[in-house]
Amino acid sequence: MSPGTFMRTARHFKTTRRTTRLLAATIASAVGLTGGAIAAASSGGGIEPQSSVQLEENLCQTNGGGAFVAIPGFPGEMIDQRLLEDIAWMVRKYKIFITDGYATSGHSANGEHPIGLALDIVPNAATGGTWRKVTKLARWAEPVQNQPRPPFRWVGYNGDVNHGKGHHLHLSWMHSTTKPKVPAETVYSRYCPGAAPPAPPPAEPALNQILKSLPDAGPQHDDAGVDYDD
Ligand SMILES: [Zn+2]
Repeated sequence: MSPGTFMRTARHFKTTRRTTRLLAATIASAVGLTGGAIAAASSGGGIEPQSSVQLEENLCQTNGGGAFVAIPGFPGEMIDQRLLEDIAWMVRKYKIFITDGYATSGHSANGEHPIGLALDIVPNAATGGTWRKVTKLARWAEPVQNQPRPPFRWVGYNGDVNHGKGHHLHLSWMHSTTKPKVPAETVYSRYCPGAAPPAPPPAEPALNQILKSLPDAGPQHDDAGVDYDD
C-alpha cells in the first residue's frame, strides 16, 4: 500500500468538489446571481459529498459519500470507500491480506459483505503477516467475545463457526439500515474518511444518546444459505 494511492483518492475528492463548485458558480453566473449567493450555494448543504463527526477516540460517524471502490493493493476486491483509512491502518499495522470485501453472493444476505462494509482477512505472509498479528487485530476489534468494540458490529474469529485462527477473521462495520448493493447512508469507522477535518462531537447528553444507540443489529454469522435459529 503506497501513500500515493490515498493521495490520489484525496485529490480525486478535491477535484470532484472543485468541479461541483465551478458548476455551481457557472450556473449562478448564468442566471445573474451575486457572489454572496454563490458562496451560499457552496456551503448550503447538498453539495458536500459527505460529513463526518468524531464521536470519540477511534470512532467516527460519516453521513453520505458511500461508494464501492477498489481496495488499493488487493486486485479484484472492493469496499465502501469510507473504510479505506481503516483498511490502510490494518494493512500497515497487522500485515493483513484481504480475501473478500464487497460481495453480493457467498455471504449472509443481511450481513455487511453485500453492502461493502465487511472484510475477510488472513495473514499476508509476503509482508510479514502472521496469525498472531491477525489475532491481535481480532482482539482489538473484539476484546470480549460477542462484545465488539465500535465501529465493529460483528467480529467472526475464535469461537465462531467457520472463523478463527488458521481459517479467517471477519470484520463487520456498523451502519444505518440499507439494502444489498446500496451503500449505507451512515457508516461508522475508526478513522474519519476523506481529507476534510471531522466535526467535533456533540455535547452531552446528545453524544451519550448516540453512543448508546449505535446500530449493532444484524446476523452473528457470515454464512450464506445456513439457517441459524439463534
Ligand atoms: Zn466475511
